[in-house]
Amino acid sequence: MHDLQCESLSKRFGAYTAVDSVSFDVPRGSFFSILGPSGCGKTTLMRMIAGFETPTSGDIRIKGRSVLSTPPNKRPVKMVFQHLALFPMMNVGENIAYGLRCRGENRADIARKVATVLDRVGLPGTAEKQVSQLSGGQKQRIAIARCMVLEPDVLLLDEPLGALDLKLRERMKIELKQLQHQFETTFLYITHDQSEALLMSDNVAVMNAGEFEQIGAPQDLYNNPKTGFVAGFVGDSNRWPGRALSVSDGKVRVAIDGGGEAIALAGDERIAAGGPVELFVRPEVISIGAGSENTLGGTVESLLFNGASSRILVRMANGHLVEVGQAVMDGSVSIAPGETVEIGWSRSHGRAFSVAG
Ligand code: ATP
Repeated sequence: MHDLQCESLSKRFGAYTAVDSVSFDVPRGSFFSILGPSGCGKTTLMRMIAGFETPTSGDIRIKGRSVLSTPPNKRPVKMVFQHLALFPMMNVGENIAYGLRCRGENRADIARKVATVLDRVGLPGTAEKQVSQLSGGQKQRIAIARCMVLEPDVLLLDEPLGALDLKLRERMKIELKQLQHQFETTFLYITHDQSEALLMSDNVAVMNAGEFEQIGAPQDLYNNPKTGFVAGFVGDSNRWPGRALSVSDGKVRVAIDGGGEAIALAGDERIAAGGPVELFVRPEVISIGAGSENTLGGTVESLLFNGASSRILVRMANGHLVEVGQAVMDGSVSIAPGETVEIGWSRSHGRAFSVAG
């Protein structure tokens, strides 16, 4: 069962194609994110689903029915914007009740629904509060409550955490996921922040230049990226340009520009011996010390302590700087800047993608 289906959806502005034949299905009650850099077409895609923008071609179905000819206010979707758009002159209860009043619901039903939704977002008894008295996180929850009280089939969220400070954003990621779980409503979330998308989503579509590069569960995108763009955009990676020396059995031997060789998984079908490639290796799969399948020599440049995501920066003999994640930084292993080391990782932990050109 799908709450939302988009089929070959495109939007052109004059000669410019902002969304290029995008197709995807969002399973009922799931958290689905569209992740991509600024300008890739995320907002245009969401505005078409909301009805604020007319597609050039393609179809949008909600619960199996095309909504192309349904005006925005009649579509079973609601949208939370980055700047929330709460009415500052109304109190919390009036803000939430607004949509119900527009629908002509009676006072008793409105009061009951407002109280219920405030409970569900964890802010019971706040109906009389002024919006200006709320914290940033509370405003977020009220903005969601105001939409959810109208019981949409799909809640659209357009970078709703973008205006929050870092600490609050971290907390709200978890809260949003919990709220989605609690309401059991489909959330379609757009963001350029891969950590938000990975943390909250059941499925993520990675978007680039108007097209979807890959759709998958967060673990799938992280562990099995299908394109160099996805490998580079989802999670952290060391990236080195090089050339494919040979390709066989799904593996490629790469000559890294500047010196050194490594064997990696062939990331795409276009990789051919002699062609330019980019090699991706995540910091956490690289360790210091000999004995790995791929090894390269270098010199420790600095130690970056950051708890579990601590890094050691190693300048390799070929000139590239490597981020090494898998090394103990609690003092039990002593590594000092200037020390000569060997870094290593296994063949199945690196991935090479062909480079166009
Ligand atoms: P951001 O994360 O910065 O909001 P985005 O991925 O949401 O970016 P869109 O806002 O969808 O990207 O824009 C995609 C492209 O379409 C951009 O190049 C933008 O300039 C263009 N675009 C969007 N709306 C219009 C319009 N009304 N007329 C012409 N071009 C537009």
